[in-house]
Amino acid sequence: MGLQDIQSRIAAEASRAGRAPGSTKLIAVSKVQPLDRVEAVLEQGHRVFGENRVQEAAGKWPDLQERYGAVELHLLGPLQTNKVKQAAELFDVIHSLDREKLARKLADLAQSRGESPEIFVQVNTGEEPQKAGVLPEAVDPFIAACRTMDLPLAGLMCIPPVDEEPALHFALLAKFAARNGLSGLSMGMSADFERAVALGATHVRVGSAIFGARAPVAAV
Ligand SMILES: *Cc1c(COP(=O)(O)O)cnc(C)c1O
Repeated sequence: MGLQDIQSRIAAEASRAGRAPGSTKLIAVSKVQPLDRVEAVLEQGHRVFGENRVQEAAGKWPDLQERYGAVELHLLGPLQTNKVKQAAELFDVIHSLDREKLARKLADLAQSRGESPEIFVQVNTGEEPQKAGVLPEAVDPFIAACRTMDLPLAGLMCIPPVDEEPALHFALLAKFAARNGLSGLSMGMSADFERAVALGATHVRVGSAIFGARAPVAAV
């Protein structure tokens, strides 16, 4: 457990899979973690972090970046259209594009700002009703629609169902990306990031295996 352990496991898996060293980026998912744990990982020199909520990230990262310098920030959770502007200002990468209305907003904003965060399309590979993401059969037309809006896409992201073999979902995501000419693959979390690396992940999103278990979110 811990940052260095995860980094070396990623490197070992890349080497086993015949992938170039450094071809998978480690996103340290700091959502809900106590500040001292996040600071400890910053002290170790890590500068790539992921958050699930715009509000939570806005509350802690401007101050942390003032103290530690620039950090590459990734938004992993669902994005509401009324938060797109704030998200684009705060995040370097958005992993959760999942609907046309949001794509339109991001495209308009990219036009007006002259720059855009990197964008991943979230795919609901397990076709789970409670989960966000474009359904498998809609992936190709959705990507085509984004391209007609001149919205540049970096790749695809998935969160496999908890009770299924993640490798099947990672392989499916890689297939969708390849046939659409996308190189980015955001897949793999604490429990399965090594399998994701073996199957071509360019980004793994690891939280609890770096920081320790998250405190349970209070019931509302
Ligand atoms: C919380 C979260 C992660 C990290 O989960 P761990 O199991 O703690 O590694 C990765 N991706 C997304 C989208 C998340 O919400």
